[in-house]
Amino acid sequence: MREIHVDTITAAVENLFIDANINLSQNVIDAIKGAITKEESAAGKEVLRELIKNAEIAKEGKMPICQDTGLAVTFVEIGQDVHITGGGLSDAISEGVRGAYQKGYLRKSCCDPFSRKNTGDNTPPVIHTKIVPGDAVKITAMPKGGGSENYGEVRMLIPAQGREGVKAFVLEMVKKGGPNPCPPIIVGVGIGGNLETSALLSKEALMAPLGERNNDPELAALEIEMLDEINKTGIGPQGYGGTVTALDVHVEMMPCHIASFPVAVNIQCHAHRIKKITL
Ligand code: SF4
Repeated sequence: MREIHVDTITAAVENLFIDANINLSQNVIDAIKGAITKEESAAGKEVLRELIKNAEIAKEGKMPICQDTGLAVTFVEIGQDVHITGGGLSDAISEGVRGAYQKGYLRKSCCDPFSRKNTGDNTPPVIHTKIVPGDAVKITAMPKGGGSENYGEVRMLIPAQGREGVKAFVLEMVKKGGPNPCPPIIVGVGIGGNLETSALLSKEALMAPLGERNNDPELAALEIEMLDEINKTGIGPQGYGGTVTALDVHVEMMPCHIASFPVAVNIQCHAHRIKKITL
């Protein structure tokens, strides 16, 4: 059995969250550059150019892309042939997040829900773990801003609402958010499972590279249809009006109970910060 020490996990998490907050991925930069050619409004085009400039300044100056450096959402896929040594996995991830937000001078955005007292170091992170075959550990860091997360929702639809019900729900959430989730947005849609898994699926859907379509042709068609309808809302980049409200829509789906039809929408802003490593 392969052994991975917790110190390796902590160091990896620390690097990922600093990197994610400072260096916008090339995939996102390419999508925003592509959107400049598609955007029809002058103000919208200008905003998209500013977003590219902002990403360049952040990279050069080693500064965060956005002042909201997010809640530290962490996905971990653990190979079943791996033994984590030297301590607990969750503690190691928390330590990595603590280090990233302190050493990277990133804003700490985690607080007690009632008192609103800041926890002081952006912990605890949100950790999702999955046991997978193999002897590797894959870590994905997704600092998630509050402005976009606030326009997510899980809804138990009526099964008869079907495909059209999903589209209407997604469009309703995008219109409700308007300029607040800092468009151009990316929309993650989770369909099926139960209440909590649909929410998780919607978050996982955000991890797909922009421009990549679902392997299922029916879901791929649904992604394209929803992207088209969202971009007809006219909200546009940063809400200044235009034809690029969303950069992409991704769907993840799994079977559900015969009496249920759970659907979740998770909206991501243009500061689409995702970094991954395989140990
Ligand atoms: S929604 Fe995104 S871009 Fe807007 S303030 Fe929050 S993190 Fe920044």
